[in-house]
Amino acid sequence: MNLSLVESALKELGAPRFRLDQVRRAVFTEAAASYDEIKVLPEDLRRGLQKLAPLMSVKERRVEVSSDGRAHKALLELFDGKIVETVLLRPSASRWTTCISCQVGCAIGCTFCATGLMGLARNLTPEEITDQVLFWRQYMKREGLEGRLDNVVYMGMGEPFAVYEPLAESLRALMDQKRFGIGARHISVSTSGLAPQIERFGKDFPQVNLALSLHAADDALRTKLVPVNKAYPLKVLSNAIKKYLSLTPRKVFLEYVMLRGENDRDEDADSLIAFCKELGPRELIHVNLIVYNETDTPHKATNEDSARAFQQLLIKAGVHSTVRQNLGRDIQGACGQLIVAETAREKSHARK
Ligand code: SAH
Ligand code: SF4
Repeated sequence: MNLSLVESALKELGAPRFRLDQVRRAVFTEAAASYDEIKVLPEDLRRGLQKLAPLMSVKERRVEVSSDGRAHKALLELFDGKIVETVLLRPSASRWTTCISCQVGCAIGCTFCATGLMGLARNLTPEEITDQVLFWRQYMKREGLEGRLDNVVYMGMGEPFAVYEPLAESLRALMDQKRFGIGARHISVSTSGLAPQIERFGKDFPQVNLALSLHAADDALRTKLVPVNKAYPLKVLSNAIKKYLSLTPRKVFLEYVMLRGENDRDEDADSLIAFCKELGPRELIHVNLIVYNETDTPHKATNEDSARAFQQLLIKAGVHSTVRQNLGRDIQGACGQLIVAETAREKSHARK
């Protein structure tokens, strides 16, 4: 929903100002999925609004639910027919988190990421970004899912810092008490390491969590896995993070996808430990070790035991770390699995 569009539509339709508040409350608080559901509005006003300011910029194509019911993946269609994927996760009994996308595809091209394989189709508008959250609130209401959706992670398709302006606008909408009302501390943005934007983000959004997809603490290896490392190598990145840490009271999360025989050896742990120690005090740095989710790439996952052994090396050296649980692998809804699975499926449907 684009609230300023609703505002101008209401003006054009000659409706009084209090109608805006009614629409806002119905959509953001009560999760109305269409103007027809907003019974306090006169019928002709509902019809007029539907024409001038459509409630949603995305349309549901399909939702898949994992076998344990803790991960739901939606394929949403945009006005130009492009598809974006978003995931709703229930990491614990009463908490729901959504993982949202900011681009259709991604230009960074990390070698282990399904989204990266497809290249960039286009950026999303701020409305298309936040409508993913709105969609899940409507879905939870419709499906009778209990609990609140008040955690948002920008870890779907795309590189958030490549679309800084739309990202900033979407964050302001999510944090706006009159719209989503989600606390900054419940929002996380993940970047592949666009150094200038890391500093800017620290200034603009000091309370929002930042995750950096590191994956290797050695320049040659990182450039191979995350090609943007060529433009912003580790030294530049660590300076940006130090600056970020000086601007915010938050800690920084380092994401590390474990790839068998590539970045999971003892010497890789040593470089990672050295990188973390250089950044600052241990309580400000947390390493998330992520089990690699199968995609159409030649990489192999580190097995669980080796991941735990790697984690122990970090812990022994005083580096806080966890091995991240993966929800939604059976529906290709886990990290890095978004979209290629869909494209492949559509192709196989087409062949039939
Ligand atoms: N573009 C941003 C945010 C989206 S990716 C970024 O790269 O940070 C979200 C997270 O999923 C990143 O940490 C990314 O490295 C990780 N990821 C990508 N492909 C993956 C895969 N196949 N298995 C597990 N994690 C993956
Ligand atoms: Fe893009 Fe992130 Fe995937 Fe890399 S991991 S290709 S930056 S979405």
